[in-house]
Amino acid sequence: MTGRLEQLARRRRAVAPPAPAAPAAPAGGTQVGEAPNQRCELCAVPIGAEHPHLLDTTTGGLRCACRACALVLGQPAAGGGRYRLVPERRVELPDLARDDARWRDLGLPVSLAFLVRRGDAVTAIFPGALGPTDAPVAPEAWAALEAAEPAVRALEPEVEALLVNRMRGDRECWIAPIDLCYRLVALVRTQWTGLTGGDEVWTEIDRFFGELIRSEATR
Ligand SMILES: [Zn+2]
Ligand SMILES: [Zn+2]
Repeated sequence: MTGRLEQLARRRRAVAPPAPAAPAAPAGGTQVGEAPNQRCELCAVPIGAEHPHLLDTTTGGLRCACRACALVLGQPAAGGGRYRLVPERRVELPDLARDDARWRDLGLPVSLAFLVRRGDAVTAIFPGALGPTDAPVAPEAWAALEAAEPAVRALEPEVEALLVNRMRGDRECWIAPIDLCYRLVALVRTQWTGLTGGDEVWTEIDRFFGELIRSEATR
């Protein structure tokens, strides 16, 4: 862990102390509400700022949940399969991150993206000033990614994403929970200014990935 944090310190430009959680992120119309004093969206008990999320497969939205609802409704057999628990794991894939030729072959139009598998299709989602946009990923390109990095094959459909940051010289690639990816979407949308984003958005993106490294190190 210490090694990772030292690495973080070396990699990051001066990153200020953690800010409060990013504003609510929409996903299919529902909010990834991260306000304090909120309630479970399934049983209404009060929950803290750190809580699990359930993907509502009927709407594609994320629901804030208490631990009990997450445990019960997140079971594949429960609730008619309507809800899927968003996993908490964060796994860094440094070899894949540094493989410039592979990402060039993938042909993503934007250097900050997360890739989600839904059924047989894989979609790349790009955070932007006006919200997320998306594009299909060619099946053969995805197959090549899986061959290069077997961990990609273990990605849980819909609730986990392959999060890629190749902005401004960064080389990061993670298996990340989908709720976290939508937090990044909200961050970019709310902090972006002008044509190039402005300094604030880049500081926030750096902080986001810095926290990702810290959260992986403490798990
Ligand atoms: Zn609940
Ligand atoms: Zn929530």
